[in-house]
Amino acid sequence: MNKRIFAQRLLDWYHENQRLLPWRETRDPYRIWLSEIILQQTRVAQGLPYYQKFIEAFPSIHHLAAAPEQKVLRLWQGLGYYSRARNLHACAQRVVHDFGGTFPSTYTQLLDLPGIGPYTAAAIASISFGEPVAVVDGNVFRVLARVFGLDDDITRPPAKAKFTRLANELLASEPPDLFNQALMEFGALQCTPKAPNCPECPLVKNCEAFRQQRVHEFPVKSKKAAVRHRHLSYIVFAHAEKVLMKPRTDKDIWRGLYEFHLVETKTRRSASAIIKASGLPLGRAVVISKPVSYQHLLSHQRLHIQLIRVKLTTAGQAQRIQQKVGGNFFSPRQVERLPKPIIIHQYLQDSKRAAS
Ligand code: SF4
Repeated sequence: MNKRIFAQRLLDWYHENQRLLPWRETRDPYRIWLSEIILQQTRVAQGLPYYQKFIEAFPSIHHLAAAPEQKVLRLWQGLGYYSRARNLHACAQRVVHDFGGTFPSTYTQLLDLPGIGPYTAAAIASISFGEPVAVVDGNVFRVLARVFGLDDDITRPPAKAKFTRLANELLASEPPDLFNQALMEFGALQCTPKAPNCPECPLVKNCEAFRQQRVHEFPVKSKKAAVRHRHLSYIVFAHAEKVLMKPRTDKDIWRGLYEFHLVETKTRRSASAIIKASGLPLGRAVVISKPVSYQHLLSHQRLHIQLIRVKLTTAGQAQRIQQKVGGNFFSPRQVERLPKPIIIHQYLQDSKRAAS
């Protein structure tokens, strides 16, 4: 397909169909960056309230940089992929510390900041500073693979380089901010993964995948890694209306978030087996409740979670357990302010509902 025609039809479509979103009304790199980090792996409808909460809590990069990490993680709660939140915070501190709070203005300089990869650097450089550099994300892979009939495996680096080259050629004579936003929006609304609207598509006459009636075969992706199953049992130690929680420190999911005492096993185990496996000196001064179970799906992991509430009836018992497992006893108000994995938040909400 002629590259000029592709770009023109895409931009015409964008003028007619773009959604009105707060980050489209600004060129402020802080806001563009914030929206791009929030929207990675997240749908616009889910990300929008987070964007608004962050702008309200941290109106400038200086506010974000000065905030405690715990506050940033708490606001992020529910979005998942928490390394994004930690990098967001680290990046804000770097921009304030090394650049006086002003984002660097080139793609290459932006790439050097924590949590900013080629996609985000291209988005900020093109939208905020007009640099002609194309964004390439899942939407862009899909649209280009279909329109140009490219059957390269997009999980492999050579394909990434090829698509990036093509996207940059297509963008070359267009306003980079508009072209990039148009291509992303076209992938999100028109040429969607499962239900592309081909009959009403401005590119249908030149779309190679449509011509070959193979729309759903593009883009080509090799099979995903198998999902790993994990069995996480939490012992929720409760004493005098407080619960024992501690931050996760391992290089694993949810680092920096607060959880209860964890016992991880290779297979599903009963509550009594978990209590026994924990090796903790529980003695008789406890009341063990029926476990509550949840499942939680991450990108490559399925978590089978059970929570076993153990009520410690004496202060001495609570002290001994705390010395053994670490952490602190927190009141419900304090727990509310702690950053937590969404599944623990859900458990606390369910327990509150059940008790009222
Ligand atoms: S015709 Fe269908 S597959 Fe081709 S670009 Fe348009 S929406 Fe996508």
